Amino acid sequence: MEAKLKQLEAEALAKITEANDLKLLNEVRVAYLGKKGPITEVLRGMGKLSAEERPKMGALVNVVREKITEEIGKKQQELEEASVRKQLESETIDITLPGRPIKTGNRHPLTKIIEEIEDLFIGMGYKVAEGPEVEKDYYNFEALNLPKGHPARDMQDSFYITEEILLRTHTSPVQARTMEKHEGIGPVKIICPGKVYRRDNDDATHSHQFTQIEGLVVDENITMGDLKGTLEVFAKKMFGEDREIRLRPSFFPFTEPSVEMDISCKICGGDGCRVCKQTGWIEILGAGMVHPNVLEMAGFDSKKYTGFAFGMGPERIAMLKYGVDDIRHFYTNDVRFLQQFAGQE
Ligand SMILES: [Zn+2]
Repeated sequence: MEAKLKQLEAEALAKITEANDLKLLNEVRVAYLGKKGPITEVLRGMGKLSAEERPKMGALVNVVREKITEEIGKKQQELEEASVRKQLESETIDITLPGRPIKTGNRHPLTKIIEEIEDLFIGMGYKVAEGPEVEKDYYNFEALNLPKGHPARDMQDSFYITEEILLRTHTSPVQARTMEKHEGIGPVKIICPGKVYRRDNDDATHSHQFTQIEGLVVDENITMGDLKGTLEVFAKKMFGEDREIRLRPSFFPFTEPSVEMDISCKICGGDGCRVCKQTGWIEILGAGMVHPNVLEMAGFDSKKYTGFAFGMGPERIAMLKYGVDDIRHFYTNDVRFLQQFAGQE
């Protein structure tokens, strides 16, 4: 009987060593330690033993049973640890992998230019004024000294909706509307940014829809010197302190006299290059002293009040500032183009 117990122990220990998962190990436990197992059977057979042998065998059975129980316990712990380790390994996060960048948008380059110009003029005491894009012929043309049939209307090919309603061709109607609201009392000091529309064929430098910013100052004793000083500050802030400006005589129906402003070419420093068409100068904006007829139409006494106005295209300024060679890039919304301006706040 003793030999049988030893054999059972050896068998059980071998099977415990072989058991490579918890299910198999549990089968070993049931097989050797269960109620129908061989050890229980040995205990049942103890009745046949002599009174002397019985305690000795009982003790031996307990030793064997404890040994098997202990080995199963050890193996169980081993298997459980292995299983946890395996799970951890399979769920490991490789923190050395580069992350997936989150795509963020950025402000449109034209918006940036417009805001930059707005900030500059707000700093000089201007207010931002806005008006409708679908405009009356009266505010778009007539109030600006362009009566019906005026030949200069041909300079701005227009999208008419009815005889009297059109898509505004410039932001000047905002000037006319603002002056009208002032009811002949100065000062007026505004800039008007916004979209405008003309019947142009789209190409690298033309677009049927584009943006403008105009400025208007009306007060007593406003002179051409005030205009020139204002434009000089603008040019230097926008394009660099070393820029020179020059004013050339021009014609606009709503200003008299009218000028166009050039800035010295940054690329060639005035020697002449492709960008400045070999002149050393780059045209930036149109300006002039507000025509007395415009002041009178808006209810201002042109003997008491004078004023100046200027207008520019943010597209042209953005093209010069960022070296963009085609105006259509601003409207096609190609993120590859737009993202180049990310971070240039
Ligand atoms: Zn140049």
